[in-house]
Amino acid sequence: MKIAEIYRSIQGEGILTGTESVFIRTSGCNLRCWFCDTPYASWQPEGDDLSVSEIMNRLSTWDCRHVVLTGGEPMLFAEMIPLCNRLRSENYHITIETAGTLYLPVECDLMSISPKTSNSAPDVADHPRWHRRHEHTRFAPHVIRQLSSEFHCQFKFVVDHADDLQEIEEYLRQFPDLTNNQIYLMPQGRSQEELKQTETWLLPLCDNHGFNYCPRKQIEWFGAVKGT
Ligand code: SF4
Repeated sequence: MKIAEIYRSIQGEGILTGTESVFIRTSGCNLRCWFCDTPYASWQPEGDDLSVSEIMNRLSTWDCRHVVLTGGEPMLFAEMIPLCNRLRSENYHITIETAGTLYLPVECDLMSISPKTSNSAPDVADHPRWHRRHEHTRFAPHVIRQLSSEFHCQFKFVVDHADDLQEIEEYLRQFPDLTNNQIYLMPQGRSQEELKQTETWLLPLCDNHGFNYCPRKQIEWFGAVKGT
């Protein structure tokens, strides 16, 4: 499968924030968010085709037990199944980061779902075909139900405006089995300044609603830099 990058860093988002992890980034995505922070794995996918054995060889160069399979959209690739089986047989902790539009019968310890709401759509004038495809694809309730029934899940929503909260609440009403402690709201933005500005109103909103605030620590620690 096409791999954009493999690197060791620290998980900056969600329940495992602060955990040293190796990130394996698959290249290719079925969505086109306008704010995508990894365009080299979506809009202009880069990378090399690597076999499961080649990926495992690279992984073995680090002494690190947490693996994050991210993208792009890793659930696009059937090779995720044998890769996760190998990781499981070698006792790695497996996180999969997905937008939750596709299902695969994989081994996984934490399914980290970042559902894409209407604030993610690419500009209709600049990208009419991708706009249509993105809007048609981004919400797949049957996939969310299957993932959340089979895996330990967290949900990370990107918030751009305070109005987005209404849509997130509407979204969550469709999945009554989810609990607030599984929900993380993250500010949209690529610089520490943008994130801090959004934090001033998003953090109190999270407190009011009983959601977790997710400050995206990797941007504070490293900036919006590839390989972190
Ligand atoms: S789903 Fe993720 S990788 Fe795909 S375009 Fe959106 S932000 Fe980028």
